[in-house]
Amino acid sequence: MAAERAHLAVIGAGPAGLAAALAAAGRGVRVTLIDSAARAGGQFYRQPAAGLRARRPRALHHGWRTWERLSRALAVQVEAGTITHLADHHVWLVDRVDRVDRLARMDRVARMEGMEGTERVDRSGTAHLPAGTGGFVVHALRGPLQEDPGTVRADAVLLATGGYEKLLPFPGWTLPGVVTAGGAQAMLKGTLVVPGRTAVVAGTGPLLLPVATGLAAAGVEVAALVESADPRAFLRRAGALAAQPGKVAEGAGYAARLLRHRVPLRTRHAVVEAHGEARLGAVTVAALDADGHVRPGTERRIPCDTLAVGHGMLPHTDLADGLGCRVEGVRVHVDEEQRTDVPGVWAAGETTGVGGAALSLAEGRIAGHSIAARLRGAEPDPRDRSAATRSRTRLRAFSAALDAVYAPPARWTERVTDDTVVCRCEEVTAGAVRAAVDELGAGDVRTVKLLTRAGMGWCQGRMCEPAVAGLTGCEQTPVRRLLARPVPLGVLAVAGEPTDD
Ligand SMILES: Cc1cc2nc3c(=O)[nH]c(=O)nc-3n(C[C@H](O)[C@H](O)[C@H](O)COP(=O)(O)OP(=O)(O)OC[C@H]3O[C@@H](n4cnc5c(N)ncnc54)[C@H](O)[C@@H]3O)c2cc1C
Repeated sequence: MAAERAHLAVIGAGPAGLAAALAAAGRGVRVTLIDSAARAGGQFYRQPAAGLRARRPRALHHGWRTWERLSRALAVQVEAGTITHLADHHVWLVDRVDRVDRLARMDRVARMEGMEGTERVDRSGTAHLPAGTGGFVVHALRGPLQEDPGTVRADAVLLATGGYEKLLPFPGWTLPGVVTAGGAQAMLKGTLVVPGRTAVVAGTGPLLLPVATGLAAAGVEVAALVESADPRAFLRRAGALAAQPGKVAEGAGYAARLLRHRVPLRTRHAVVEAHGEARLGAVTVAALDADGHVRPGTERRIPCDTLAVGHGMLPHTDLADGLGCRVEGVRVHVDEEQRTDVPGVWAAGETTGVGGAALSLAEGRIAGHSIAARLRGAEPDPRDRSAATRSRTRLRAFSAALDAVYAPPARWTERVTDDTVVCRCEEVTAGAVRAAVDELGAGDVRTVKLLTRAGMGWCQGRMCEPAVAGLTGCEQTPVRRLLARPVPLGVLAVAGEPTDD
């Protein structure tokens, strides 16, 4: 009986997961690509729903040719049966099966099949599993309602779950009409819908550029692009910029589009308040000095019905954390081959640090290449991945330069009034968080949570944690969450039962 091919579960079908799945499948690995979205592509290559029959979806994207190449290659592998794409699958836990359990299970199977005493064959081709692992069980909730449980068994796992937006509160930020920058972008790319007629795009980071130009191109009047960082800081990092001429050209392209659509750009400015009764009607924007203080007398009210606001991104680390992988600061730690410190688990893309789609693609390729070799029991040849490794080095240097330039404004917490809601799930105000520290003696985010309920709601602090950490002056440390998604009790109760997809 021949052993089947080794089986890799890739969680996340964005640029990193796609690149890894294709690299591994092209080298003989059987891949199951699991993603919560209805279509592959992740955040960057988000596609309009098929029913919308978008005539020119490429108009909302750059890097469209790369996407066409990836999606064609995916279709070929799916057709050949080497990649199975499970869309609408929300992974809530990845379980390690230890080798002893696995061998016991194989013995049971052998006895059931009357194979006792014969040579034991591992049907999943796990003879070359990384030392110490017996494979993995990926638990997911299927369908848009996330109710129907399913599991996938695999010999190795790649975590490519991307990142999520960092939200910082300010007075009025909970008004209808205030959306995240990425949310506005996702709405535009995924549903071809614009969030309003007149928008202000604000916060900090490179994502604001495609959001402002995308909204303007779709017919929204973009009344201002408000960036709190000082672009002159780029001059001090000219080396990292010069090494990425493509990125500089991309930036110049956005600048040209802002000019063409007459979008006023205000750098070293911030939205200090959003105004409105039932919904957003205007925002107040002010200039910041070098220390992040509002410059007195610079406040200006801008009428708008939409505020798209974002302060950068944070990596998704829950699944890695549940597996016991080392999380460094806010990102999953990986080595040169994109391996985590848990044998059999790789990570790529923004899970390992936020750096954009091109970096995610390079990391995915490196991971796929490494996984294919390691599952064969071979040492990967670094020459086979040298181009991807060079790109990764340059792009990591570039994203470090971006991180340094696009830090959130220093004094943002001073502008958060006591009555501003910080944790939306539990409706906890900034005043309550401050009282937990000043009056009740809380010294870390966890104690604030216990005293105020900030972070105890549906999102389990994923949204409010940076805000609570900032307001309390505590460091933002990775929070241990057992499950990556809210899970119905009934699903937990049957989690041990096999329901392979
Ligand atoms: C809302 C939003 C919009 C963005 N828009 C842009 C943009 O327009 N331009 C740009 O340059 N960058 C954009 N970015 C940044 C973008 O995330 C990256 O540059 C790039 O897409 C990262 O690739 P990735 O493969 O690491 O992750 P992603 O592209 O984020 O892909 C991760 C995938 O994992 C899936 N996933 C996550 N958790 C689970 C789970 N538990 N179970 C199953 N599936 C899961 C997600 O559905 C997603 O498809 C955006 C980010 C966000 C959050």
